[in-house]
Amino acid sequence: MSLQYRSTRSETVLGGFTDILLEGLAPDGGLAMPASMPQVSAQELADWSGLSYPQLAARVIHRFADDLSFQDIERLAAAAYTEQTFHSRAIAPLSPLGVEQGAPLALLELSNGPTLAFKDMAMQMLGQLFEEVLTRRGQTLNILGATSGDTGSAAEYAMRGKSAVKVFMLSPQGRMSEFQRAQMYSLQDANIQNWSVPGSFDDCQDMVKAVSADLAFKAQYRIGTVNSINWARITAQVVYYFAGYFQAISHYGRRLGDAVAFSVPSGNFGNVLSGFVAKSMGLPISRLVVATNENNVLHEFFQTLVYRPRGSAETFVTSSPSMDISKASNFERYVFQMLDGDAKALAQLWQQLASTGQFSLADHPTARARIQASGLVSGQSSHAQRLAAIADIDARYGRVIDPHTADGVNVARQFLRDGEPMLVLETALPAKFGETIQEALGRPAPRRAGLENLESLPQRVVSITQEVGALKSRIADQALV
Ligand SMILES: *Cc1c(COP(=O)(O)O)cnc(C)c1O
Repeated sequence: MSLQYRSTRSETVLGGFTDILLEGLAPDGGLAMPASMPQVSAQELADWSGLSYPQLAARVIHRFADDLSFQDIERLAAAAYTEQTFHSRAIAPLSPLGVEQGAPLALLELSNGPTLAFKDMAMQMLGQLFEEVLTRRGQTLNILGATSGDTGSAAEYAMRGKSAVKVFMLSPQGRMSEFQRAQMYSLQDANIQNWSVPGSFDDCQDMVKAVSADLAFKAQYRIGTVNSINWARITAQVVYYFAGYFQAISHYGRRLGDAVAFSVPSGNFGNVLSGFVAKSMGLPISRLVVATNENNVLHEFFQTLVYRPRGSAETFVTSSPSMDISKASNFERYVFQMLDGDAKALAQLWQQLASTGQFSLADHPTARARIQASGLVSGQSSHAQRLAAIADIDARYGRVIDPHTADGVNVARQFLRDGEPMLVLETALPAKFGETIQEALGRPAPRRAGLENLESLPQRVVSITQEVGALKSRIADQALV
């Protein structure tokens, strides 16, 4: 019997990996979680340490997707993780900076893919998995999404040209960087449709939710999502924690089994949750640093054990915009683990959240102890600190980092331990956020060859209204059947 998935909010069994791959929320509103966490033995860790990235990806992902054959996953991983797509043979190379307070400090490069942000790491594999499962089932899928910049472009570059998938992506008019706009709107593939909305990201997201809430419409037009709660994305992101760990052990002359720490620029809590999954499987991660910006809901939780998401009025627009999130959708999965899989207790907390706007785990002795033992620590970084880190890393190590990675560096520096490697996840390249790099360094961000003229390519985007009825008829007109 293959690994089964269940909901965080009830005992409902949702099926195997391929069953949950194309689904969003569970029928009870919860998220899919594996019924048991796959484990990696010391022997397997040794066996995996010399593998190439696609080989490693196949082994890790197969642990969570054993209703597909290993050979099939191996083939899909080989197609997803190529040097051509990621501009690096290592796919996620370690880039050592220096030693600070006795701790080797390094970047783990996750942003060498087509859209210059770490979202490509999961989305390229998701594109392969979608195509495989849809083709087998003789089905098509219409993906309706909303983006503030990075997720939408990563999804579009992963799904472009795939015959069983069509993408309708809503983006907020005038709220993305010029580079982000050009990256998405310059795509000319027939299966990619960009629709811009006069409003904020939240307005776009609300439109997607309104369409998805019409279950009959959703079923008739086979509407799917690729948002950050997709479990396959979480799974694919687990891989680079293993890859980063092995490279750190080898580069710094440590032994397998020695501890490594990671610092993770966080928004929706998907990336750091993947790190926690890797740790739960047995990867020797000592600490996972949850780095936030001025939108510090997660930092507040780890300080007080009170979770109090905020509305859009209380969400600041910052210079690390992909972390401007005040309701971390994957956080539910972490809390579920901290409650030892008690779906009833979790459902109660989320009911409390809905009625009072917050909940506390401070008086929950077992959850409290589990959170302490989970290795997650947190901090926040401001605009001024972000600029200072960009300038400092450039001056000390001759390396330009993007504003999100700068938040990761800032908070990592609060948690350095003598002798223990600290890997900061590089979640985007600086070229994507040129305005802030110019402000920090007084010069433009470096740009990969081939992208020099991105902003002057012809763009294809349709401006639509916030009216949900009109959106539905537009989808009905253009959807794959
Ligand atoms: C999406 C994103 C983040 C936040 O990642 P989560 O998985 O949502 O926590 C951080 N930095 C960049 C550049 C991103 O695109």
